[in-house]
Amino acid sequence: MNSAHRCCEAERLCFSPDVTRCLCTGACVADCIRFAWFSRTLAVVCGYVYNSSMAHCIVPEAEEIIDKIIPVLDKGFVRLVDYMGGDARIVQSARVSYGEGTKTVREDGALIDYLLRNRHTSPFEQVELTFHVKLPVFVARQWIRHRTASVNEISGRYSVLKDECYVPLQEDIAPQSSDNKQGRRQEPFPPETSATIISEMKEAQVHAFKSYHSLLEKDLARELARINLPLSTYTEWYWKIDLHNLFHFLRLRCDKHAQKEIREYAEVILDICRRVAPLATASFEKHQKNGVSFSGEEMQALRNILDGKEPGLTGRDLSRFEEKIKTGRQL
Ligand SMILES: Cc1cc2nc3c(=O)[nH]c(=O)nc-3n(C[C@H](O)[C@H](O)[C@H](O)COP(=O)(O)OP(=O)(O)OC[C@H]3O[C@@H](n4cnc5c(N)ncnc54)[C@H](O)[C@@H]3O)c2cc1C
Repeated sequence: MNSAHRCCEAERLCFSPDVTRCLCTGACVADCIRFAWFSRTLAVVCGYVYNSSMAHCIVPEAEEIIDKIIPVLDKGFVRLVDYMGGDARIVQSARVSYGEGTKTVREDGALIDYLLRNRHTSPFEQVELTFHVKLPVFVARQWIRHRTASVNEISGRYSVLKDECYVPLQEDIAPQSSDNKQGRRQEPFPPETSATIISEMKEAQVHAFKSYHSLLEKDLARELARINLPLSTYTEWYWKIDLHNLFHFLRLRCDKHAQKEIREYAEVILDICRRVAPLATASFEKHQKNGVSFSGEEMQALRNILDGKEPGLTGRDLSRFEEKIKTGRQL
């Protein structure tokens, strides 16, 4: 996406015979200076407040990666298609009620941190990101549970699906965890066992796609031919979400409790957030991603410890409390 397109909203502020030109590109700056007074008047008449800091937020660090494919898993990817706003937009929208302008980066950072700590969430909703994601269906099933995004997915009724399936790396092939019914053990199988498992998985995928194509050749409708395809099949979607809800997604999906495969996507998206809104993302990591919340009883235990007393918790409550402090994980 080029910058002229990204700035197109600003056209309406531009006093230029060539209305397709944009205020934010160098081409029209001279015109705008020459007609600054007129532009301001025009802007106010049009219902705008003329202030260059209120126009489109262009974040250079985000521009560097926009449209670039970032590989995830064996055949998947994340691509930042577009973004609207960044740290500046959060600050602008939070300050709009006071009619205050932009301040120093330090002050902006402090304001963003205050908003995030105190769950003043709506300024974060002013920032939006659109991603193009290629992901296996079983990851998509987990991802789609986040209802606050807008999604457009490739249609297996409309298109013939590509023969592309996820195959885990050998080091990720691990037995069922004994203490977590939803997860796998840390230690993988020995390499020879993993190799056998991988070859069995690949064989089943090849077989499923062979049958898919055979059914299509019999002129079976695509919507029916696809129904035996595996969960490992790759799908693609456009996913648009605001920063507040994206942080919620990242808090849940970067967490160790989330399946490794979706975590890999979440980590890439977190990295993209660091570029689009670095101050907000730093606050999110500090207070939410790497922070934990304590219950009322646990708060009392902390107060007891500060007073030099025993925590006052016992059994599982005590071990969970200690584990939370040691690992920094929400348990
Ligand atoms: C590690 C892990 C394990 C999981 N295991 C399972 C499982 O075994 N089975 C299973 O079914 N799911 C499971 N889930 C999915 C989980 O229960 C949530 O559905 C998912 O994480 C989305 O969270 P959310 O609803 O908060 O997010 P979003 O849908 O993004 O919603 C964000 C917030 O908006 C509000 N909201 C959105 N829509 C509504 C609504 N319709 N009504 C009320 N409030 C709304 C809620 O406050 C919500 O927290 C798991 C998730 C994780 C992270």
